[in-house]
Amino acid sequence: SENNTLFDFSEQSRQEALAAEVVFDHNLDRSFSYIVPEELGAIQPGQRVSAPFGKGNKKLTGFCISTEKTSNTKGLKRLSKIIDSSPLLAHPLIELAQWLSLYYVCPLGQVLSAMLPAGVKKGLGFVQKRFIKLNCDNIHEAEEIQKKLKEGSKQKRLVTILTINNAFISGGGIESSELIKEAETTSQTLKKLLDAGAAVCERKAVLKGSHELAAVEEPDITLNSSQEESIGQINQKIDQSAFGVFVLHGVTGSGKTEVYIRALAKAAEKGKKGIILLPEIALTSQTILRFKKRFKRLAVLHSGLTEAQRASQWHKIKLGKADVVIGARSAVFAPCDKLGVIIVDEEHESSYKQDTAPRYNARDTAIKRAQIENAACILGSATPSFESYFNCKAKKHFKLLKLPERVEKRPMPQMQEVDMSGRRAFMSEFMIGEKLKEDIENSLSSGEQAILLLNRRGYSNFIYCPECAHTIHCRNCDASLKFHLSDMLNENSSEKLYNTSGLALCHYCGSRTLVPKNCPVCGRQLTMRGSGSQKLEMELNEKFPKAKIARIDTDSMKGKDYRELIEAFSKHEYDILAGTQMLAKGLHFPNVTLVGIVNADTSANSSDFRSAEKTFQLISQVAGRTGRGSKPGKVIIQTTAPDSPAVKFAKMHDYEGFYKNQTPMRDMLGLPPFRKQALVQIRNEKKTRAEEDAAKACETLSSLIKTAQLDIRLKGPFEPPIGRIGREFRVNILLNAANPAVMMSFLSKARFSELSRLSSKLFFDIDPLF
Ligand code: ADP
Ligand code: ZN
Repeated sequence: SENNTLFDFSEQSRQEALAAEVVFDHNLDRSFSYIVPEELGAIQPGQRVSAPFGKGNKKLTGFCISTEKTSNTKGLKRLSKIIDSSPLLAHPLIELAQWLSLYYVCPLGQVLSAMLPAGVKKGLGFVQKRFIKLNCDNIHEAEEIQKKLKEGSKQKRLVTILTINNAFISGGGIESSELIKEAETTSQTLKKLLDAGAAVCERKAVLKGSHELAAVEEPDITLNSSQEESIGQINQKIDQSAFGVFVLHGVTGSGKTEVYIRALAKAAEKGKKGIILLPEIALTSQTILRFKKRFKRLAVLHSGLTEAQRASQWHKIKLGKADVVIGARSAVFAPCDKLGVIIVDEEHESSYKQDTAPRYNARDTAIKRAQIENAACILGSATPSFESYFNCKAKKHFKLLKLPERVEKRPMPQMQEVDMSGRRAFMSEFMIGEKLKEDIENSLSSGEQAILLLNRRGYSNFIYCPECAHTIHCRNCDASLKFHLSDMLNENSSEKLYNTSGLALCHYCGSRTLVPKNCPVCGRQLTMRGSGSQKLEMELNEKFPKAKIARIDTDSMKGKDYRELIEAFSKHEYDILAGTQMLAKGLHFPNVTLVGIVNADTSANSSDFRSAEKTFQLISQVAGRTGRGSKPGKVIIQTTAPDSPAVKFAKMHDYEGFYKNQTPMRDMLGLPPFRKQALVQIRNEKKTRAEEDAAKACETLSSLIKTAQLDIRLKGPFEPPIGRIGREFRVNILLNAANPAVMMSFLSKARFSELSRLSSKLFFDIDPLF
């Protein structure tokens, strides 16, 4: 009540009180001080609290980030509740959050919140189970209880089992259903025992669905000398508990994963923990099984889990019950203590970048985390990002390790390009040229499998009128709609009733529209090109009527279906697997001997300075899907630009050559990896507003840079390739700096300048991947 508050206030202003700094998951980038009332007990940073906020004193959930004794409590509000009984985030993760907040220009409260899985925040992950204990506290009394029961009775058997398992000591007990099973009895018998007072029942929260896994297999693999050399250097850091970053550059099939496994095992041996990050899509049961076979104490975090399952895995890690964590991007925040090693496989993957705030890159976050926790960090790839490769030359903590050959001297696949530039109709009428057709036929007739990959980046699919050239656009975005055949309509069959040939999807805002058969402007029949992979599937069915064909792309697949289809293909239930980029990643099919890249070109998207690098990565990665078994592999690259460096160097498996060919231009233009980029984006529903504010922002930033004489270059304002998304107009300003620390401190000041007073929304994207 009012009186009470007054009383406390005067008490505490005389004495010292404990104050907690709290941040909330909102857009205000500052912390708030609260008094911690004594009756709430002890509080530590990393615990969540409930606290009154703002004029209305609405209760918000926030994180305590520090505590302090203070005598200056005037005007401070009091915490309402401490939510967690112990900190959810340990000190190193809070330190990591503070860095992320500064580096990625995102309020600390938002970062901390993003570190925790939704299920954990909702308190999921545990189930209440009944545990049975004998009603005594030592073995003699337990034996007394036994004696009183009839020889050979079921009750006696229960008591014997409980006695053997020490189910009388404090904290002991056997889960009731397990006990009943083991004693081969029923719940009625157990009830009698409980009713008689011989045993008691306690409810305990246990982790949901986390049973110990199968026995660990030691595979019969002798590392080759490159692998030995690499693991030797990595283990040295793990042994010394010293920070170091290793860029493990190994061609596909060179045994990188085996090196990861040894590093993780080394950490476990030293009583430390290890995390391995994989692109979401590579987290198939194939991969997970491989790790399950080697690590008994394993936790898995991927999007195929329910919130409760994820929360349970998270708590398993938190309780120290997992030595190894395998997961996608957000597993970089796994709550391991005593981290020994953190591994980022396929480190060049753009999916490690989160596209909502905090816009972190899990690879760079992993490096920072390793530094904070004195751990080794391994960045593995057959095609390292230019950034990582560059760092090996420029930074003292980085070390390049090479696995130049496939294991057991398996040959690299034979690469052959097919020049499609003369084929006028290529990609609009047909996709599979003569050469590729022949090779697919050969594979099929020798009982082998093939993968066909469509690089959608270079293939625009849209809906247009051949008469008046009208194209159908999204109502919210400056983007043409993508056409999808009607198998997308299955979820909602009533849509089929319309006079339509399919569904148009906006790939930017996700809106769906039924496509009219006729042009809304001139009435002629519209031309639908179909999504690239659907069209490819149709062509394959026509050309290879006897083959079993499966298609995979993001439109047709949810995570689980994807995983199932991959299993089916690896059991040879399909002959041909066709799809988009997703197929390039980390899959292992020994019977695949042919990979066809339907269109290797990226010229259509020249606005991205990384497009050549991406093409190179794609060709190299996809080549890694073939020849992984005893049979050698072959790659057919259909391209309209056979002389481009990306195709030429990928064909020769020459990463180093490609890097040397491409980087001088990047250097000259001041692009990454030589300089760091930061994107400032202004968004407004009114175009003129967005433009005005962008001009103002540019002026502010420029003058700040000039006054402080910083080595930061500014470009803009300019309109991005898609100027309007989800009804908002966007204007970009691009900054670049040679020194990331300069950029970081500049932005953390600049955002509180006049910039914060613009009426448009302001977004920061550091190290953007576009
Ligand atoms: P990468 O991750 O580089 O693609 P993997 O680690 O998956 O390569 O290795 C490819 C295959 O070779 C796997 O089946 C793995 O068990 C096997 N392998 C790894 N190292 C060796 C080795 N030194 N000798 C024999 N086989 C190996
Ligand atoms: Zn849209």
